[in-house]
Amino acid sequence: KRAKKSGRVEVYHMRTFDIAREQFGIETELRRAIENGEMTLHYQPIWDFASGRITSFEALARWTSESGVRRSPDIFIPVAEESGLIIPLGRWAMDEAARTLASWDLQSGGNCGVKVAVNLSAIQLQRDNVPDLVQSVLERHGMAGDRFTLELTESAIVSDPDGVSRIMLALKALGTTLAMDDFGTGYSNLAYLQRLPIDLLKIDRSFVSGMLADRDKIAIVRAILGLAQALGMRTIAEGVESVELSQTLAALGCTFGQGFFYAQPLDQDTAYRYLGSRNT
Ligand code: C2E
Ligand code: CA
Ligand code: CA
Ligand code: CA
Repeated sequence: KRAKKSGRVEVYHMRTFDIAREQFGIETELRRAIENGEMTLHYQPIWDFASGRITSFEALARWTSESGVRRSPDIFIPVAEESGLIIPLGRWAMDEAARTLASWDLQSGGNCGVKVAVNLSAIQLQRDNVPDLVQSVLERHGMAGDRFTLELTESAIVSDPDGVSRIMLALKALGTTLAMDDFGTGYSNLAYLQRLPIDLLKIDRSFVSGMLADRDKIAIVRAILGLAQALGMRTIAEGVESVELSQTLAALGCTFGQGFFYAQPLDQDTAYRYLGSRNT
């Protein structure tokens, strides 16, 4: 029995070691990919229920490693956060999103009519000077701040509410829209909501996608919509995968929808064509 037990312990250590090695491998490859400009952004449309138009696109990082493996952001973003690579990655993403928007404007012969939403990691918010970063990106691409939404998570606020509050005010002063991402999945209390300059609540996919068959989920979605309305915030439902969900969310008073029902995240050129085919 003892031998069995120690055997199990060894297997456990091997696994831990393998995971650590795998993470380190990803980190090394990721560092090189960022340096070599091998990352891309895909853009997922956000649909305005009232006007039936696309008003923005969320920029989502994509990476196919040198060995040809396509890795999900759910794998490489945590590695980037643990290793500090999220700082160069986040800077690159902001700049790349602005470059794309400038190119869409050029192709439309003026303002192409949409914003781009960029994800900001809590780690980047703590360790980088994000207002300076955003301002320099805006200047470099000749863009107004109101063309950008910045998506923050609740974890950013929990760790340092006063610091984050100052950063958010500085970002608002640049004209950007601020969204609370994955709302309802974090640990924060609700008091911060009215104190911070948040424009938009993004209702997490985990509440939205199964809500038509789940009374509890629909109750949570209703409660979030009510809260947002009371606080004067607009709402985005993530994970809208069907026409039924889209119609129900519109009827419940949700402002925007995002999900596979409208489109998957699309590469820069496909997204631009999609925009042309929808907003005419
Ligand atoms: P997120 O910010 O919640 O982004 C939405 C995720 O849901 C995306 O996954 C998107 O592809 C997926 N999605 C959208 N519509 C649907 C749908 O209808 N059904 C389903 N099942 N999924 C849908 P993705 O691109 O794999 O990104 C995962 C997460 O990685 C993001 O979650 C975000 O937290 C993070 N991430 C991605 N790109 C970046 C980035 O550039 N910077 C930072 N800091 N985080 C990023
Ligand atoms: Ca997001
Ligand atoms: Ca989200
Ligand atoms: Ca989410």
